[in-house]
Amino acid sequence: MPKKISGGRKTAYYAGMALAITGAISFGSVFVSGIAHFGDFSNFETQSKSMMARGFGGMVLMIVGIVVMSVGARGAAGSGLVLDPKKAREDLEPFTRMAGGMVKDALDEADIKLGKGTSEKIIMIRCKKCNQLNEEDSKFCQECGQSL
Ligand SMILES: [Zn+2]
Repeated sequence: MPKKISGGRKTAYYAGMALAITGAISFGSVFVSGIAHFGDFSNFETQSKSMMARGFGGMVLMIVGIVVMSVGARGAAGSGLVLDPKKAREDLEPFTRMAGGMVKDALDEADIKLGKGTSEKIIMIRCKKCNQLNEEDSKFCQECGQSL
């Protein structure tokens, strides 16, 4: 039976995403106000202090958010927080299955059906090394020779 990702982990994932976005906005605002006040040194000290607080705080928020997201998505063991390879596999199982499902959805959306009706359509595979598209049945990349 396939396992389900627990509600708590989903909550952690979305909470982490919110944190990371908040952090990114805060971090990004430093550059925006930096540009807006460029050349204006009237209250430079106050400005640079608030910029540092926002920049640093934003960065911390982003990092924490990303960590929480990955724990939510993959579970504590799967994200490497708990060193337990067996538990990691169990934690990662719903995650990798979900990723596989997303790939399938993307293929469906692009109207590439595997199985029936593939004869007229050429499926290309992308080289991991140089990103060159190669025909499905090629063994080596035509650009860099990497085995596919
Ligand atoms: Zn290549």
